[in-house]
Amino acid sequence: MKTDEPKKIYLQDYRPPDFEVQKVDLHFDLYEDFCRVQSTLRIRRLGTVRDLVLDGIDLQLEKITVDRKPWPSARYHISPESLTLDDVPDQFTLETVVKIFPDKNTDLEGLYRSGPMFCTQCEPQGFRKITYYLDRPDSMSQFTVTVAADKKKYPILLSNGNRAEQKDLPDGRHQVTWEDPFKKPAYLFALVAGDLGVIHDSFTTFSEKKIGLEIYAPHGQQERCWHAMECLKKAMKWDEERFGREYDLTAYLIVAVDDFNAGAMENKGLNIFNSRLVLADPISATDSDYFNIESVIAHEYFHNWTGNRVTLRDWFELSLKEGLTVFRDQEFSMDVGSRAVVRIESVNDLRQKQFSEDAGPNAHPIRPESCYAVDNFFTPTIYEKGAEVIRMMQTMVGRPGFRKGMDLYFSRYDGQAVTIEDFAQAIADANEQHWDQFQLWYSQAGTPTVTVEEDYDPVKKSYHLTLRQSCGPSPGQVVKKPFLIPLLIGLLRKDGSEVNLRHPDVTVNSEGQKILYLRDPEKTLLFHDLPEKPVLSLNRQFSAPVHLQWRATDEELLHLLAYDSDDFNRWEAGQILATQNLLVLTQAAQAGRSHAVSPALLAGLQKVLDNRSDPALQAMILQLPEDSYLVQMQAVLHAPAMSAARVQLELGIANGLQTLLRETYENLNGKNPHSRDPLDFGRRHLKNTALFYLSFLPGGADLAFKQFQQAKIMTDRQAALQALCDSESSLREQALQEFRDQWKNDTLVLNKWFALQASSRRRQTFSDVVKLWDHVDFNKKNPNRVYSLLWRFGENIPCFHDPTQPTYEFFADKIIEIDRYNPQVATRLSGSFNLWVKLPTTQKASAGRALQKMLRSNLSKNTYEIVSKALKAEDMAPTI
Ligand SMILES: [Zn+2]
Repeated sequence: MKTDEPKKIYLQDYRPPDFEVQKVDLHFDLYEDFCRVQSTLRIRRLGTVRDLVLDGIDLQLEKITVDRKPWPSARYHISPESLTLDDVPDQFTLETVVKIFPDKNTDLEGLYRSGPMFCTQCEPQGFRKITYYLDRPDSMSQFTVTVAADKKKYPILLSNGNRAEQKDLPDGRHQVTWEDPFKKPAYLFALVAGDLGVIHDSFTTFSEKKIGLEIYAPHGQQERCWHAMECLKKAMKWDEERFGREYDLTAYLIVAVDDFNAGAMENKGLNIFNSRLVLADPISATDSDYFNIESVIAHEYFHNWTGNRVTLRDWFELSLKEGLTVFRDQEFSMDVGSRAVVRIESVNDLRQKQFSEDAGPNAHPIRPESCYAVDNFFTPTIYEKGAEVIRMMQTMVGRPGFRKGMDLYFSRYDGQAVTIEDFAQAIADANEQHWDQFQLWYSQAGTPTVTVEEDYDPVKKSYHLTLRQSCGPSPGQVVKKPFLIPLLIGLLRKDGSEVNLRHPDVTVNSEGQKILYLRDPEKTLLFHDLPEKPVLSLNRQFSAPVHLQWRATDEELLHLLAYDSDDFNRWEAGQILATQNLLVLTQAAQAGRSHAVSPALLAGLQKVLDNRSDPALQAMILQLPEDSYLVQMQAVLHAPAMSAARVQLELGIANGLQTLLRETYENLNGKNPHSRDPLDFGRRHLKNTALFYLSFLPGGADLAFKQFQQAKIMTDRQAALQALCDSESSLREQALQEFRDQWKNDTLVLNKWFALQASSRRRQTFSDVVKLWDHVDFNKKNPNRVYSLLWRFGENIPCFHDPTQPTYEFFADKIIEIDRYNPQVATRLSGSFNLWVKLPTTQKASAGRALQKMLRSNLSKNTYEIVSKALKAEDMAPTI
């Protein structure tokens, strides 16, 4: 814990390592209350620096030798974060023995206990809590690991690589040795010890190598791992076909762990997963749980090449592996599911999380230049915006060109630690491109805005299209240079058909997509021979992560919604109509005026619902934009008015479309409940969207309760309970009680119970959250449970920002409490305050007081960084 402002680290201070660790030999002796770690490192000097500095935190040093001779105590120094050996030889073997206490490790970094098992999380800097080491990604080495423990309590002992040896020891103990033939940085180290259930399968690679696949989970849970196993095999096959990447060890292991800060971790050959992203069966998991498992299993698998074989030089380059691997998992989900729907979901997510980050106090470039804690790099900007930039590269060179670039990247850098520029250069070189301007996406923060101006001359039959780009200031970056923005474009005729675009500035990529490059602050294009004003369809597939400012008429938006061949822009047209209406309704609610629900929006949605096309797409179109997106378009966050506007529009849609909604619901309800076909996923989504609207109408709560009781699968049960959770019906309590009674022994399902209540839009939600914190089933040490309650509540804009409740004070106290034992969880929660600068005066003062209280509370450097940035956004940071 820090009392002063923590020290910042800077990208520009990067220096290559002074020493190389050529070989690592680790021996773990696990006991109930401690673990002894013996480390033998073969070390070689690379430069001229005489002293060796190793990272290490909370380690009890028991022994230190150099070339088997004790190293004199006068020649080494221990600080809270390092071990320094003075004037070491050019080449030597260093042996250290340290004692660590996994039982007392509450921040879940390094080696820790989750229930009866031991596991690790080393990314980014957990390895230094295990042993003294050069804990930096560009220090890659070959690891041999032996784990010894009581055989009865810990029959399963796992680490990275291939199993080399197994033997019994005296006193009922045993040990297993693992050898990883591939060099890796320490953040990819993993160890698991426990008594676990397992399922086995295999995969034969394209060169006919048979890989053993093993998924471990607590006894009794392993049968819920088969979906994950199917996904793993699908991902392995896809990476061979799409990117020519073959798996390289003899076994691939996944372990499900209950107590885990993040989603999952790609440790070489031994992935460790938060159990919510492995375990699934239709009774307890929803369709979106199934989808998330598929995408995360694939993501961690894809890291084997993008992250592990080619790794990052330093943590500022995190997007090198994360942006690229998110892009790869998105492409995988698009190839195995519906391209349009997956794209819409990714964009929805990007706009809610990353666009708001880009507009808030924590805005940073994809490759940041400084930070207090590298733990804080795991942001939507590094991940999701990083993926968008790679998607733009693929759009610009087409899929075959992109594959060529990836092949070049792997052949140039396999086994090395490299930078984002190295990656971009490889893609550019393979396609003879020059991307100096494009690389500004990596160094400039903020979401660019592209403003559209149109002018049609019916006499000359000409159409002028003018585009202007701008990007507002971000912390530390006041003025920005223009970006290179690739915009996919189409023009539609009145009958819905597509104009055959011919223009020197519009190029066609290998997939036949038409691209317009915006390079300058402003560009005007002139199109001839158009007998009528065309309807513009710009930024198709969301080809560039920008805000599009376009004053389209209702007629134009309805035209796109009905006819655009680009499904993304069909959805987008509906979203624009809904956004415009919600913003007007919010203003009216704030001024105490009344305003009507948009007839154009109702007409458009009616047509969508009437036209039985892709049900998944219909469901997406029927959903209104999220509050976290709408807030970005408002200068002041007036939560009660936003909430009133949303209810009015939802009620308007429910009333206006009730016949069609009922028909849709009845047609689809109860059909193929157990099918895992993407089409049936879509049908269930559409049906439950209809239920959501119908629940606003008289008899709606009864309908939801009926579905709740009759549901055969969790997707239907959860959707019904969610609708009830927002209602004031007496059936609400009954359903919640029944759900809890049924699932009180299932941790994952009970998380849903907490999350649904914390996300409810009722005014009583805050008092429910306060009570739930003290609920017998609440466990403040389990990250999933804390996120289900507090993170969900923090994201619940109408309730978290309800001016009549002391929400900020409560939330700040909980963050301070959690920060004492798990800074990563506390950091994530403190992001909920990022919107505070937009609050009305009185409310802003109250949020400001809560932030200042946090800052005065000896926060960890992780949480300090987020809280101090939030305060700086208003220049109210106190001097401490
Ligand atoms: Zn990742």
